[in-house]
Amino acid sequence: MSKARKVHVKSFGCQMNVYDSHRMADTLAPAGFTETERPEDADLVILNTCHIREKAADKVYSEIGRIRVMKEEAAAQGRRVLIAVAGCLAQAEGQEIMRRAGTVDLVVGSQNYHRLPEMVARADDGEKIVDTEFPVEDKFDALAVPARETIRQRGVAAFVTVQEGCDKFCTFCVVPYTRGAEISRPAEKIVAEVERLAAAGVREVTLIGQNVNAYHGLDANGASGSLGRLLRRLADVPGIARLRYTTSHPNDMDDDLIAAHADLPALMPYVHLPVQSGSDRVLAAMNRKHTRADYLAAIARLRAARSDLAFTSDFIVGFPGETEDDFRDTLTLVEEVGFAGAYTFAYSPRPGTPAAGLDKQVSDSEKSERLQRLQALITRLWHGFNASFAGKTLDVLLEKPGKLPGQLVGKSPYLQAVQVMAPRSLIGTVVPVVITDIGTNTLFGALAHPAGAPALVAAGAET
Ligand code: SAM
Ligand code: SF4
Repeated sequence: MSKARKVHVKSFGCQMNVYDSHRMADTLAPAGFTETERPEDADLVILNTCHIREKAADKVYSEIGRIRVMKEEAAAQGRRVLIAVAGCLAQAEGQEIMRRAGTVDLVVGSQNYHRLPEMVARADDGEKIVDTEFPVEDKFDALAVPARETIRQRGVAAFVTVQEGCDKFCTFCVVPYTRGAEISRPAEKIVAEVERLAAAGVREVTLIGQNVNAYHGLDANGASGSLGRLLRRLADVPGIARLRYTTSHPNDMDDDLIAAHADLPALMPYVHLPVQSGSDRVLAAMNRKHTRADYLAAIARLRAARSDLAFTSDFIVGFPGETEDDFRDTLTLVEEVGFAGAYTFAYSPRPGTPAAGLDKQVSDSEKSERLQRLQALITRLWHGFNASFAGKTLDVLLEKPGKLPGQLVGKSPYLQAVQVMAPRSLIGTVVPVVITDIGTNTLFGALAHPAGAPALVAAGAET
């Protein structure tokens, strides 16, 4: 019997890291580790890191400093704490992390989490370990499956990774280097995972991948499938009320996926479709392999399939050589699409990427001035989008208790947080909610059918 110990996993960056963090905890469970939310209680602290922008990497090093103090305090009390660094920074900087932060015990790249129990055992014996190989075995096959109770504790909405890696090589991006070549999981394994989640009470599944709509996993007959086909299969899984997917590339928005939006009520009418820039000149320099017109055409095809679709996006301002005119093209694109929101980033040169070596880097002051202008425009559109629901009824998946007694928090089809007074028994159900007030980050509403009215999807039915 293994000794009972506690692990704290802290995720930085994207949803893929959140998913991986859960898998790491699940994989360590048979080795005697239970999860704790409190790093100070942990015997093993794993930082699941991000490397996408310089700031993300800096954050990790300052967090290591904080955990080091905790480790030293624990050592003074005779308790040994191990520190592990996982994720994209680990993959990219490997040995460098050990050099800069000698307190770290093990560094594990994004493809090797299934080896954690063995690495921890070696670290227990005092070995310092760096494992950033891209292994031949399938990490997804080797990672442990969460217990039903663990799934329940994690809530009624879950992420499922369906593909990983990227072959697109945008000139600004580290992902193809840190996550490796694009791979898709076989459809049967994803369906089995979603069935298991649904049986434990999950009602909403978000399929994730760095380029999720490049998904081409094999089906049971060994034929290559598409994300659209996968979504059709998952929509039939008993208990699954809602499906989402993120993040997509405009060039992979194929007819199958667009048709799925027309045909599947469970597929939420919300698409995150990063465009990065509205200028063809900048898009070409970014190696995005699509133009502004291609992007607008993809949006038009999606809207033709389902008119109530809302779109969000990612933008980078201050890419090397971006002029004021290029930037204005981004602003006009934002207006033209009428985004419901967007993530905006100042270009951050990443070591080893082609764009980092380009001439005509834009100054920090210009980048932040453009970022502010873009954010102001997007905030205006976002608030307008939210305000358009005042007095309307939205279907809300109730997820968890809110801050006030008697309050629940849920999500609208458009991923807006909605607060509503409702009994706890409704957690895990989709109910119509009349929107009564619009806050900055939250909508407030009232149950359209209070007390006893049937929910659109029954709560937590075991299948
Ligand atoms: N695969 C997605 C795509 O094709 O857009 C997104 C991947 S990336 C994890 C998320 C976002 O980070 C990108 O869409 C981009 O806007 C931003 N990003 C990536 N590299 C960046 C860099 N060097 N500087 C600033 N933002 C960056
Ligand atoms: Fe990075 Fe996305 Fe471009 Fe791939 S498609 S290189 S993940 S920005």
